[in-house]
Amino acid sequence: MLETASGLYANLGPDIMRRLDALALFSEDGDGVTRRFATREHRQAAEMIQSWMRDAGMTAHMDAVGNVIGRYEATTINAPALLIGSHQDTVREGGKYDGAMGIVTPITCIGILNNAGERFPFAIEVIAFCDEEGVRFNSTLLGSRAIAGSFDKAVLTTTDSDGKPMAEALRKFGVDPDGIASLARPAAGILGFVELHIEQGPVLEEENLALGVVTAIAGGTRMSAKITGFAGHAGTVPMARRNDALTAAAEAILAIERYCSSAPGLVGTVGRISAAPGAVNVIPGEAVFTIDIRAGDDAVRRQAVAAVRAEIETICARRGVRLAVDVFHESDGCQCAPWLMDQLEAAVIAIGQPPKRLMSGAGHDGMAMARVTDVGMLFVRCKGGISHHPAESITAGDAALSAQTLLQFIRKFEPKNEI
Ligand SMILES: [Zn+2]
Repeated sequence: MLETASGLYANLGPDIMRRLDALALFSEDGDGVTRRFATREHRQAAEMIQSWMRDAGMTAHMDAVGNVIGRYEATTINAPALLIGSHQDTVREGGKYDGAMGIVTPITCIGILNNAGERFPFAIEVIAFCDEEGVRFNSTLLGSRAIAGSFDKAVLTTTDSDGKPMAEALRKFGVDPDGIASLARPAAGILGFVELHIEQGPVLEEENLALGVVTAIAGGTRMSAKITGFAGHAGTVPMARRNDALTAAAEAILAIERYCSSAPGLVGTVGRISAAPGAVNVIPGEAVFTIDIRAGDDAVRRQAVAAVRAEIETICARRGVRLAVDVFHESDGCQCAPWLMDQLEAAVIAIGQPPKRLMSGAGHDGMAMARVTDVGMLFVRCKGGISHHPAESITAGDAALSAQTLLQFIRKFEPKNEI
């Protein structure tokens, strides 16, 4: 039977939206939602999430790093679990839906399954990851890394803007960081990880689609480029005799834009630039800018990084300026598992929506979870593709469609290997 939003699930969209609104109230002051890791707001949100989980027939607890985990038991005890989740934290002055959508929706779906008395040969665990954005301590994917067994203990000594080390913040928050090492989950007990998330881009809206299945989460390379020329008098040095660092940077930036427009799924951005000495009447002697290059395919990204660097070197040599490039961040992409993509897509089609596959240019917890299990993602259309902003917006209708897809996916879920 195909249940439509006007039938059995008439309240599904409004119910999800109401919970998202409720969660958004746990925010620091300012526009939109600001909920950082191991803060009072994180604690308040975690308590609300746990109460929803218990209402939906799950057991719920907070672990040693601050993740909230709810478990909906299988028909047998100790069965392996399908993990579904997203992050509870936000950027500064972010929106109500980034992360929260992927926590509220599965809990609401499990409430429906519980009310109908539906259990499966596999357990379902919903995880509200503690810190994906990394706003407070500048280190991302803390919660999913802990579960995937790749949590780096060294980050416990990093400090927030008040100088407080993470370990101390966690103790004050009420969890024991000494317990983080034991959170790593053995792969044998996990059947896969699925995340529902707003798209944070304009593709679905432009194609008039509510839902999309993610094929890969883009890897990224971030570099800092420093061009050193020769400062001089803006009035006395003839144009032909200049070694202007900023005009070299300008040519380099356009070259990056041109190269990164040349392959599908490849994007390149220069997001920050500064020039010195920075006076109106002085030829810039130095220009420093960042380069962010991403692609779903790691080989395409590496080739782009090499090509862009070579092209900037050529530009600098021709202009008589020096170039120094520092790679300060590099993460490989994460390919979503074809068997999970197929089952998510079958669920989208089953609820009467057209299938669509797309890449994620933004990072997600799946990048960490891929270390321990297969990963799948479902994207939901967001208004104007706007995210990390108070104007972030989705419709109740799309929320209902995403929940119906998730319900369908769970009910038809076939683990890759027999349980
Ligand atoms: Zn997110």
